[in-house]
Amino acid sequence: MSLLETLAGKGLRREPPTRDEALAVLATSDDDLLDVVAAAGRVRRHWFGRRVKLNYLVNLKSGLCPEDCSYCSQRLGSQADVLKYTWLKPEEAADAAAAGMAAGAKRVCLVASGRGPTDRDVERVADTIAAIKERGDVEICACLGLLRDGQGERLAEAGAHAYNHNLNTSEGVYADICSTHDFSDRQDTVKKSKDAGLSPCSGLIAGMGETDEDLVDVAFALRDLGVDSVPVNFLIPFDGTPLAERWTLTPQRCLRILAMVRFVNPDVEVRLAGGREIHLRSLQPLALHIVNSIFLGDYLTSEGQAGKADLEMIEDLGFEVEGADTPSMPEHRRTEAVAVRRRGAGTALPPNA
Ligand code: SF4
Repeated sequence: MSLLETLAGKGLRREPPTRDEALAVLATSDDDLLDVVAAAGRVRRHWFGRRVKLNYLVNLKSGLCPEDCSYCSQRLGSQADVLKYTWLKPEEAADAAAAGMAAGAKRVCLVASGRGPTDRDVERVADTIAAIKERGDVEICACLGLLRDGQGERLAEAGAHAYNHNLNTSEGVYADICSTHDFSDRQDTVKKSKDAGLSPCSGLIAGMGETDEDLVDVAFALRDLGVDSVPVNFLIPFDGTPLAERWTLTPQRCLRILAMVRFVNPDVEVRLAGGREIHLRSLQPLALHIVNSIFLGDYLTSEGQAGKADLEMIEDLGFEVEGADTPSMPEHRRTEAVAVRRRGAGTALPPNA
């Protein structure tokens, strides 16, 4: 049986590929690219049909971070030309979230720069969640940095559905991209969020100079953590950051990376995140055959496609925007999540988890 038939078959059975098989996906030739997309697309359609989940980012706090993540325009000492502001007021954040909800976003991601929240910050976010929920029923994901004990539980109690904290790259090279915290700190926060009853969201950034082995390592590390969603970012080499000259990705490589992540995490929400426009360019529609989730419009400190173009792309592909009443996760994962949450904070899982 060919590699791609084997991988598609395993994906339909929720079995992971071997490490060598995952590496082989990254080593396929451009001649095989459409076959790679088709095989990953079979897995995607099996678990998620033709649905595309839309997510919308609201930046609660931007810039002025004391950490030194080398890929980030908000890092300590960054010369990048980005907005710098401290916490949006709850109503301001709710106004921003409402724009995303009006465009069909099912999840609003509340992002704040910084090492991690203080308890006072968590309360601000709790107020913000309440203000957004008054505007409509939407999943809220918080992305506030490293969590301390009890903070995840407080966010869950305030109505947060998920917590995002990316592993970003492999444990082996983590020290090359950041010196102010380590890989285990990030793993710890993902575990804390899960234990608190939040849906764990964690992903990676490709294009920072990592090897194929590093990409496979981080994809398997995310599988081992049992995350529900995996955002895949492609490095945006911001001027004023140490990785400003790091232009290594091609659209074809981006598709292979997405396919590898899909094969390793077949029944998980794989989300096309930062850098899709500049790296995938005209191949973005092919990526939607592999991922089942995208960020809508502009996100974090970079400009994204206007939401209208995204919606047109989805329609042109014959895909459909996932509705608020349609469960995102396959049934077996929802059942597992309920069990984890009962063991954790005891919070109820929303019907559309
Ligand atoms: S902790 Fe977050 S905001 Fe701060 S430098 Fe790292 S990625 Fe950027």
